[in-house]
Amino acid sequence: MSKEFIVETSAHHIHVTKEALETLFGKGYELEVKKMLSQPGQFASNSRLDVIYHAEIKDRVTGEVTKKDFSLKNLSILGPVRKENQVEISLTEARSIKAVVPIRESGDIKGSCPCTLVNPLNGNSIDIKEGMIVAKRHIHMTEADAKEYGVSNGDIVSVEIKSKNNRSAILGDVVIRVSNSYALAMHIDTDEANALGGDASFTGKIVKSSL
Ligand SMILES: [Zn+2]
Repeated sequence: MSKEFIVETSAHHIHVTKEALETLFGKGYELEVKKMLSQPGQFASNSRLDVIYHAEIKDRVTGEVTKKDFSLKNLSILGPVRKENQVEISLTEARSIKAVVPIRESGDIKGSCPCTLVNPLNGNSIDIKEGMIVAKRHIHMTEADAKEYGVSNGDIVSVEIKSKNNRSAILGDVVIRVSNSYALAMHIDTDEANALGGDASFTGKIVKSSL
């Protein structure tokens, strides 16, 4: 029988480059650790940003295009800084800001949704041409875990998730991500957590190689 693992909910968040961090917060600014996360070295910081999406809304009858800005406020920046800026939101949030946001693996941002990052404390902002995604659900594991489960990096599996709130389910299209810098944990977003009954934490096990 497949070993169980924790299933954690990733709320919306932002990853930034060192350069973006300094543009938004000032030269030499560094992220402070608010809370360490399950993945070694990764942390939630005290720094927050607003995300603005510049939507173009087409009138269904007249075809007229109206430009309107929508925002998501107060998203945490996760540290440490990365090589690319990336915003991870849920599909519900994407709909609320009238944006078409692709479901992607973290780091796979080519051609994804543009947006503007704003520091609400000083008004500093940067436009990013791409980088807003909905994270594809995934399991982080070490090479030893992968061997035990008989899976490899990039494999797609199905996971049975136990909910304490009457919404247990099997989720397909779960990507396996293998690195010895990871700790065993599955990550889902807030939409997925709500679909599973909204418990703070779940456990899961791999039930099939794919759904
Ligand atoms: Zn993750």
